[in-house]
Amino acid sequence: MTPTPLEELAKSLVNCDRCKLATLGRSQVVFGVGNPHASIMFVGEAPGFNEDQKGEPFVGAAGKLLNDLLASAGLSRDQIYIANVIKCRPPNNRDPEPDEVETCKPFLMQQIQLIKPKLVCTLGNWATQTLLERKVGITKVKAQAFYMKDFVLFPLLHPAAALHQGNLLPTLKEDFKKLKEFLDKNTKPAEPTSSAPTPTAPVLNIESPQPAQMDLFG
Ligand code: URA
Repeated sequence: MTPTPLEELAKSLVNCDRCKLATLGRSQVVFGVGNPHASIMFVGEAPGFNEDQKGEPFVGAAGKLLNDLLASAGLSRDQIYIANVIKCRPPNNRDPEPDEVETCKPFLMQQIQLIKPKLVCTLGNWATQTLLERKVGITKVKAQAFYMKDFVLFPLLHPAAALHQGNLLPTLKEDFKKLKEFLDKNTKPAEPTSSAPTPTAPVLNIESPQPAQMDLFG
């Protein structure tokens, strides 16, 4: 079978050495996983220890919490696509550095262009600031829709933050409820055609921008 452009992109990054993370102890490049036709994509920060070992985003403790939160919003991992801004594990899970984000961001943007999600849920400050292109705190922008040029951005707290700071868990759960409300409002039932590659994936039908939300940074 001819590889899809997304598969080609993943293949082109397998031996990526464009930034210093290639030589700082990563086991492998963690490209992303999930439904290549997903209308909803989740974007985290960078692989941690377990992700680096397994080659898949969000498979450690934060991933388990994410699975529960997804279920609470009526979503499963096979309906969505999950990737990180940074595709290689930073040593000791340190924050990504600006040159690493700058080097890796174009590949996230290519993933988004190829998957064409209607909704991108960013998890935490890093992913949110990278895609919003603004230095704005996650607590200010979380759990609301931002109408970008090609998709709607819905920032959420990072699940790892709630694991480190238990008092954030109720907020995170509440924010996934808001995500569910947004999805319920904007989802139409999938058409039962035999040719549909992913009949269980929600089909988002997101309306045009709300003027009030365009002014949030005004
Ligand atoms: N945290 C992230 O941001 N991404 C992962 O894949 C795992 C933990």
